[in-house]
Parts: sequence; C-alpha cells; structure tokens
Amino acid sequence: NSDESVPLPSDSHFVELESEVSSYQRANASFFSLVRNEELYSLLESITHVETRFNQRYHYDWIFANDEPFTETFKREVQNLVSGNCTFVTIPEEYWSYPDFIDQDKARATRERMTKAGIIYGGSESYRHMCRFNSGFFYKLDAFKGIKYYWRVEPDIQFNCDLPFDYFKYMEDNDLKYGFTMALHELAYTINGLFDATKEFFNELHPEYVSKNNHIDFISQDEQQSYNLCHYWSNFELGDLDFLRSKEYNEYFDHLDSKGGFFYERWGDAPIHTLAVSYLLTKNETHYFDNTGYYHVPHTQCPTLVKDRMDYHCICQPSSDFNWGNVDSCVPLYHDTKGMKRPDRYTAMVY
Ligand code: GDP
Ligand code: MN
Repeated sequence: NSDESVPLPSDSHFVELESEVSSYQRANASFFSLVRNEELYSLLESITHVETRFNQRYHYDWIFANDEPFTETFKREVQNLVSGNCTFVTIPEEYWSYPDFIDQDKARATRERMTKAGIIYGGSESYRHMCRFNSGFFYKLDAFKGIKYYWRVEPDIQFNCDLPFDYFKYMEDNDLKYGFTMALHELAYTINGLFDATKEFFNELHPEYVSKNNHIDFISQDEQQSYNLCHYWSNFELGDLDFLRSKEYNEYFDHLDSKGGFFYERWGDAPIHTLAVSYLLTKNETHYFDNTGYYHVPHTQCPTLVKDRMDYHCICQPSSDFNWGNVDSCVPLYHDTKGMKRPDRYTAMVY
C-alpha cells in the first residue's frame, strides 16, 4: 500500500460487542446443524449470516451432527466463526441405519421407481436417513441433554435482515414450542400414506393426545379427509426439545416409522413435524417469525414495507418475497386459521 498518509486502523475502530452482553442471561438453547464435511464452505456462509444478523450479540452455542466423523479442518474453521461453544457429534449408527423390520430390497425398489419417475431425491438412500434422523432422533443425541430449545440451520441459507431480538428468549418468555419463517405445500407424491398413518394414530389409537385448541385447520380444510400439504419449512425451525422428547411425539414417530414410509416412500421431516405440531400443540404455541429475510433455495422471505426494510437493514429484493406473493405459500392460511390479520402488504409494497 503506497498511500502512507492513510493511517492504519487503530484499536478504537474495532468495536467490541462483548461489553454489551457480558451480563446477558441467555435462554437454555443451542443452534443445530446436521451437515456433511463436504458442505463446510456452504455452512460457513450460513454461520456468517447467523452470527452477523443475530448471534454476535448473544453467543449461543451450536451443535453439529454428522453420520461420519467431522474432519479437523471442519471443526477448526467452524469454531473460528461461531461466537458460542461448538459441539461436534458423530451420529450413533442406530440413529442412521435401517430398522430390522425394513425390507431393504423393497426400499431399493422404491428408490429405483422414484428415480425413474424423476422425483427429487427419490433415488437417494442418505436423504431418507436424513429425514428419519430429523424426524425422530436428533433430539435424542447426548449433546442435547438438558437443553430446552434448538434452532436448526442448514448450509447455504441466508438471513438478509437483522434479527434484532433474542428468538430463543422469545420462545421461552411466551411458552412457544415451535417457530418457523416459511410454510408451503409439500410434493404430494413424496408422502403417500403419511396422512392415513397420522389419522390412524391421532383419531383411532390416541384421540386423547389431540390438543383441545389444536391447529388441524392449518393442515386440512375438509374435516381431515385430505391433507392440504401445508408444512412449516423445517430447514429453518426453532423448537422446544421437551415437546420432541414427549411420550406423545415419540409414540407418533414410532407409529410412522413402523409403517416404513421413510424407506418405502420418501416421507420428509417437515410434514411430519407440521402434522405433529398441528395435532399435539395449541395454536398459541406456534409462532411465525417475520422480517427475517430468510433464504433457502429456491425461496426467499423478504419484508416489503419500507419501514421494516430500514429498521432491519434488509438487503433482499422486495419482489422476491414468497410468503405473501406466491400462491404456494401457506403463511396466509396460517394467519387466517389463527385469527390473525394479514398484513396489508400488497398495497404497501414498494419496488
Ligand atoms: P433439502 O433442503 O431438502 O434440499 O436437503 P439438504 O440436502 O439441504 O439436506 C438437509 C440437511 O441435512 C442439510 O443440513 C444437509 O447438510 C443435511 N444432510 C443431508 N444429507 C446428509 C448426509 O447424508 N449426511 C449428513 N451428515 N448430513 C446430511
Ligand atoms: Mn437444504
């Protein structure tokens, strides 16, 4: 650098956030990422979004899980960016393998059928283990013992707005058990049999488990004859681990698992979480986190009101908003079924 008249940055240019948070009482909570070693650099992008938009003020811990051991490079680079403590978990084989009762030839035939049909991830064995792990096992990892809330983060996601308050504390203070930022329709051909198995469990086997103030009208508009395919997009989710650890949730998971749909179909964890939440929780125990600027391919949540965009320093393109601008979004139905007013965004939208 030839311009010696420009002074180098001094200590005073590096503002420490630490002093603001040293006495801060965090919630009992942790971020969570299931991720492969090969996804390290995509994950580092996600971590940077989470840290700059949120966690640099709170320093929440982060649990990472993998069906293979994490490499030293992975652990070093990740811990270097996370402002809380990191725990790296190798998933026990019993959480990532075929249960005895699964006919693996039949599972293979399903993968071949779905590959031929061009169904996304239809031919993938690992994707099925991933969906099953996220449905019934991640919260059983030792690393989660004693922890109350989790927040799931995937590689290659973005937060394009500031998340200006502590989401974990908000869950705690309001007795919330499930939080999301996007909801949309599932691909019907991936979940054959899922709704029948769900109705069998909640309506025939355990009607006493169904919440009095349930949210079944979010997932069915015809008295449960059909599932409307609405699901909270679980690549972003905050949740109460005690809910997932509950007897009711685990019996529901075991019931689904016994049907073999993770392997003989391609059941996803998102519709499963959504169905469980809709039957077992009250409407007041779920929460829509707005103004996140969240992105996971191929959809974006993006505030369209000028005031929100300014307040939260959003950098997403307003016209890209999926939640209120796409017929495939279930966010309007969520608001309607909770008796919440839809924001008046179409008229207020500015491009
Ligand atoms: P999509 O969002 O449905 O397209 O699925 P992803 O490929 O993003 O997978 C969902 C999450 O599971 C991501 O956090 C992935 O990193 C993770 N994941 C998927 N498959 C595997 C796997 O075989 N092993 C590990 N360790 N993580 C996986
Ligand atoms: Mn993903």
